[in-house]
Amino acid sequence: DQKIVVKDFAELLGKRVSDIIGKLIQVGVMAAMNQEIDFETAAKVAKEFDVEVVEKAVSQDEEDETDFIVIPEDDEKDLKPRPPVVTVMGHVDHGKTSLLDAIRNTKVTTREAGGITQHIGASEVQVNGKKIVFLDTPGHEAFTAMRARGAKVTDIAILVVAADDGVMPQTIEAINHAKAAEVPIIVAVNKIDKPGANPDRVKQELSEHGVLIEEWGGEVISVEVSALQGLNIEELLEMILLVAEMEELKANPNRDAVGTVVEAQLDKGRGPVATVLVQNGTLKVGDSVVIGTSHGRVRAMISDTGKRVKSATPSTAVEITGLSDVPAAGDQLIAVADDKMARTIAEKRVNKIKEEQLKSSQKVSLDALYSQM
Ligand code: GDP
Ligand code: MG
Repeated sequence: DQKIVVKDFAELLGKRVSDIIGKLIQVGVMAAMNQEIDFETAAKVAKEFDVEVVEKAVSQDEEDETDFIVIPEDDEKDLKPRPPVVTVMGHVDHGKTSLLDAIRNTKVTTREAGGITQHIGASEVQVNGKKIVFLDTPGHEAFTAMRARGAKVTDIAILVVAADDGVMPQTIEAINHAKAAEVPIIVAVNKIDKPGANPDRVKQELSEHGVLIEEWGGEVISVEVSALQGLNIEELLEMILLVAEMEELKANPNRDAVGTVVEAQLDKGRGPVATVLVQNGTLKVGDSVVIGTSHGRVRAMISDTGKRVKSATPSTAVEITGLSDVPAAGDQLIAVADDKMARTIAEKRVNKIKEEQLKSSQKVSLDALYSQM
């Protein structure tokens, strides 16, 4: 049976601990603030405060699917190939950041020697004349934020596993994220330069976790790399293109933009800034957009190399300014007809959230109750 500590319960209801203990006594239960009470008792006490404890939280989306705007579907004939969007996942210290650096550095021109400065939360590389987009948000975070909002931003997940360490807890977590999102995995067995490196062991361990490498009779591609020495990075990039080709990724560049916020923050000088991955359509400077409960007119767009751009086609990440508020990672961007429409939709969404908060403040769900424990 699930239980909750008295003081956590008080906090959940927004009441003083002493009031809770008083009510507990009234229902015949003697409990101190650090003691646990069972659900039935908690429910009884909650009722005394006119708060209903419900069995399970009803998803607000389930209750009401309308979102004040409908994104039109594309005609098959309008779809054009688009570049793949890739995230890097793996256990801490297995080399995610180093790998992204190594990938960026394969494309450093002599002018930029010494490394590419990072400008926004994503970067693009050209391989054999084809573009690949890498999101810098740590894969795990990105997946969690995206999943919470039902957004899908990644086409391919690179799973980094250190050859001297093998499959670790966050490796397994990453595998689960990719599988749940039905995103194909490419394994980068990293740190093969290290004396203790044992790539074969890594592959065997992966097979035990349902990731079957080609050599093990599966379909998952793996590449042995050294992010530190820049070994086999080109091969990894080519494999990404190969997998991308099989995915037949497409979008319609000739329509109003739809995208997802990868990261956002408040900039002292520029106000709210958001890195947005354009997933469909073309986003242009001057477009009116609604993003979650934020809205605005795209004032300026900056590319991954820090250059000002006027438009962004599908699978392009840009940093935009001109928003009313800072949106959240995972929020969807939708370009709409004009400012008025953008503002109206954002306002309706704000009102809807307020209404829901009011509704749910009169109910405490069991889920919330137990998530406190
Ligand atoms: P992250 O936590 O997954 O982002 O891992 P980092 O990229 O920060 O790397 C963790 C440590 O491993 C750093 O000290 C890196 O220099 C080192 N490292 C990363 N890749 C390699 C590699 O290919 N070979 C060796 N020898 N060390 C590496
Ligand atoms: Mg890192």
